[in-house]
Amino acid sequence: MHLRLSSILLGLAACGAAVPAPRAALPLDGNSFVVIDARVFDGERAIEHANVVVRDGRIASVDTHAPPRDLPVVDGAGRTLLPGLIDAHTHVRTETMLRDALRFGVTTQLDMFTEVPFMQAHRAQRDSLARTDLSDMFSAGAPVTSAGGMGTQFGIPFPTIAGPEEAPAFVRDRLAEGSAFLKILFEPDAEIVSTISQETLAAVVAAAHTQGAITAVHITSQAGARGVVAAGADGLAHLFGDQPIDDVLIHAIVAHEMFVIATLTAHAHLTGKGISPSLAADPRIAPFLTAGQREDLAVTAPTPDDPMGPYLVRFNLAQASDNARRLRAAGVPILAGDDASNFGAYGAGLHGELELLVRAGLTPAEALTAATLAPARAFELADRGRIAPGARADLVLVDGDPLVDITATRAIVQIFKNGYPIDRAPR
Ligand SMILES: [Zn+2]
Repeated sequence: MHLRLSSILLGLAACGAAVPAPRAALPLDGNSFVVIDARVFDGERAIEHANVVVRDGRIASVDTHAPPRDLPVVDGAGRTLLPGLIDAHTHVRTETMLRDALRFGVTTQLDMFTEVPFMQAHRAQRDSLARTDLSDMFSAGAPVTSAGGMGTQFGIPFPTIAGPEEAPAFVRDRLAEGSAFLKILFEPDAEIVSTISQETLAAVVAAAHTQGAITAVHITSQAGARGVVAAGADGLAHLFGDQPIDDVLIHAIVAHEMFVIATLTAHAHLTGKGISPSLAADPRIAPFLTAGQREDLAVTAPTPDDPMGPYLVRFNLAQASDNARRLRAAGVPILAGDDASNFGAYGAGLHGELELLVRAGLTPAEALTAATLAPARAFELADRGRIAPGARADLVLVDGDPLVDITATRAIVQIFKNGYPIDRAPR
């Protein structure tokens, strides 16, 4: 048997049928190429020793067949190919913030409110396959909040909503401005900020659904989350840490098929256990940070005498982490979002959020899904968050295996946006 196999192998080698001749090194400067022999995480699970063919900025095939010979080759051996990462909770106000994210493999950001003109100026990019050095953005635009409510403290002039009767027109105005989804701020038991009422929340959610829009709701307490579930919204923009989540609420979130954006980065920062210092010190991250990103990572936690103190005490990393673990165990889609730049730095921060999700008890695969397929499904992003034929070639190639060590997402070999390689030099 051994002899026979050897002679077959020798025979094949002699005739050259199965052993490819060395390839001419085609330059990797367009948006067509093939990644060879990589571990491919498709958004949900890994395929070992796979070849991924990209043509004209889209994935053409993912399989273990012999790769085509007309394309530049990217060596995937010992490496893992990930879908471009999706940060499901950021606030983007400048092109620099889009560029900073992309340099860390975040190819899409879900902006949880920003200035409307900025959103409008960057809305078309996400439909394009052109070469770019900016991540794509799906933005809520102006949020839904009350006069003086959460979100208004940032000094951005937003319209506010006074009652449920205004909901249909308010939602229509946001969608007419170009909002990709509705971001609603709801704080029913935080005495230091005003909030929309439960009735207004329910009316806005109903109007959004009538008008075909997804709703993500900011809460910071279990009481707030109960109101969001009662209103029928699609998901939570934060996970709360003020109380252990109760089984009744978990079951309701499952029954309503809601998503939860964990933002454990915020809980870590506000409870003095921020992950930013370790990101800034990581040799896989530090060389790619701009001075601005280093500044964002150096922001320290609020002191006990902070005027927001009575509000901030409800953030709790251990409790929020345990709530995330229990929700995930019940089958709830957990989405990775770091709330940059309130906490952390664009792009780099998402790698910290992934580590926090694994520390919370998610498997590395579940954490990777939280930054790829889960947000793509929750926000109906058809051609993102997965490595599959037809998806846009937003890809991150890393050394090692993030399915074993989640921090391997930081060991980036090459980022592709719309199939084009990205220059990672900070600028
Ligand atoms: Zn936020």
